[in-house]
Amino acid sequence: PNNRSGDGKPRLLLMGQRRQEAHPLISPRRSGKSSISSVVFHKMPPAETLFLESTARIQKDAVHSFMDFQVWDFPGQLDFLDPAFDVDYIFGEIGALIWVIDAQDEYLDALMRLNNTILLLQQHYPSINIEVFIHKVDALSEDYKFDIQRDIVQRTQDELSDAGYENAPVSFHLTSIYDHSIFEAFSKVIQKLIPQLPTLEGLLNILCSNSGMEKAYIFDCISKIYIATDSSPVDMQSYEICSDYIDVIVDVSEIYGWDRPGRAAEEAECNDQEAESVIRLQNGMILYLKEINKYLVLICIMKEESIKKKGLIDYNCGVFQDALAQVFGLQRT
Ligand code: GDP
Repeated sequence: PNNRSGDGKPRLLLMGQRRQEAHPLISPRRSGKSSISSVVFHKMPPAETLFLESTARIQKDAVHSFMDFQVWDFPGQLDFLDPAFDVDYIFGEIGALIWVIDAQDEYLDALMRLNNTILLLQQHYPSINIEVFIHKVDALSEDYKFDIQRDIVQRTQDELSDAGYENAPVSFHLTSIYDHSIFEAFSKVIQKLIPQLPTLEGLLNILCSNSGMEKAYIFDCISKIYIATDSSPVDMQSYEICSDYIDVIVDVSEIYGWDRPGRAAEEAECNDQEAESVIRLQNGMILYLKEINKYLVLICIMKEESIKKKGLIDYNCGVFQDALAQVFGLQRT
């Protein structure tokens, strides 16, 4: 709802400046933005981010998927008062600003910049969600992690209430690229930007109860972020196995897949071209994956008995997809 491009895609901006070191030979600390986008959007193994180049990246790394995503890296002090700084160009079209703070580093300076940015956004773009990723928490003890979070939240809220903003849309997430917390945080960020989320959850609930499924997720294929699930509780294990499943399917289809007709050709024909796959796990559970469109897949977890009624599942998934198409205007593959 917040972006002006009109394509219904939530748009994200990833920020969090480097700290200028006092000495020119000491390279500035980097909060981890490029690592986050490489791991989440380019399938880079987390350990390889150690070798990411720190070149002049005042860049816009754009990812086009179910959502559009940009990484912006501003070296040095960001001066909003500089007339050359086109604030409207930067903030005019986004749904959420993700601000990355390196929890392993001194963060007071970063926090000050964050607070300045929040105040600016509150004045001019109050509907942008501000999502603070307290990042690199993998190296911190449980206690220390929550202490830092408490401190950052407190300081930010004090600053905001001093300026008279009590209900600014600011949220905080503890993240690391070395576990699923970064994906979980992104999922939450994205879900807030989807106005039809309750409808989507309702549809997934109906699909599960009518097809004997235990859990169903809609995933963004490229990032493996889930954009919705039914209302039964999410357990990390099921989420992880679904996200690994997507990797398997993507790898297999890169080898054995073929080009399918483009949208125009396919609209003329019938609409049953979507890929699907079934995997039987060692514990007897079944994973069922069904492509929804270019970006999204549906993954369902069920017992063996349920998949025996494949006709029912096909029918219900078809109904589900038609409902999605109506609610979102999503094209099927
Ligand atoms: P940027 O300048 O903000 O884009 O920062 P980079 O993405 O280049 O990351 C700087 C360093 O932080 C790299 O060496 C990464 O390996 C490291 N890093 C990024 N994310 C994490 C994380 O979650 N945990 C840990 N321990 N290190 C991370």
